Amino acid sequence: MERELRLGIMGGTFDPIHYGHLVTAEAVRDEFKLDKVIFVPAGNPPHKVKRKVTDKKHRYLMTILATITNPFFEVSSIEIDREGYTYTIDTIKEFKKMYGEKTLFYFITGADAVLEILTWKNADELLRLCYFVAATRPGIEGNKIDQELDKIRKLYGDVIYKVTVPSLAISSTDIRERVAKGRPIKYLLPEPVERYIQKYKLYKEDDSR
Ligand code: ATP
Ligand code: MG
Repeated sequence: MERELRLGIMGGTFDPIHYGHLVTAEAVRDEFKLDKVIFVPAGNPPHKVKRKVTDKKHRYLMTILATITNPFFEVSSIEIDREGYTYTIDTIKEFKKMYGEKTLFYFITGADAVLEILTWKNADELLRLCYFVAATRPGIEGNKIDQELDKIRKLYGDVIYKVTVPSLAISSTDIRERVAKGRPIKYLLPEPVERYIQKYKLYKEDDSR
């Protein structure tokens, strides 16, 4: 009998996408033997209202450039095509419709995002619709993640797993600040993405205010 499809969903603002995202997605794919990982650039992320997020077309194209060499990676425009704020619950429901009820979904998040899951829209429904994978991330204490995982497991059962991924202390915020200050971003993200940033003169203005 064929086994059910297992899909990883890697959500993010990807402003810009970097090696921290890619190494995390690949490590989780391997650990859970996922058939593929779908990167989903956020359209209008509700938690990032404090700063101007780069045009979604740029973020989508950079995500494509970064993932193109991995046969297991795909990019979905599901969230950037949606008007208004985008919520994970709506995205997962749409994927369920597309792939069928039997497909297992693993939503991949870094440790910082894990600490916020319970505040997400319809968190209880979401935790029943898909598994969550909490990837370690430099700067976020292991203990803190374990505590949060315990809390979630007590409420919802075995729906969340922790995966240790090769530590890369890279963030999009740091990359944007580097570009604004004229400092190098080489080796932090794939070269085509670096070229794209230069070509369209992204992040030239310091937006860290
Ligand atoms: P920003 O600094 O703008 O918040 P970011 O680097 O955190 O950007 P996001 O697009 O916010 O990137 O992250 C998408 C997902 O990837 C989140 O779940 C985040 O925790 C995870 N992630 C980002 N960078 C890393 C990293 N270096 N290691 C592990 N996980 C990461
Ligand atoms: Mg972030």
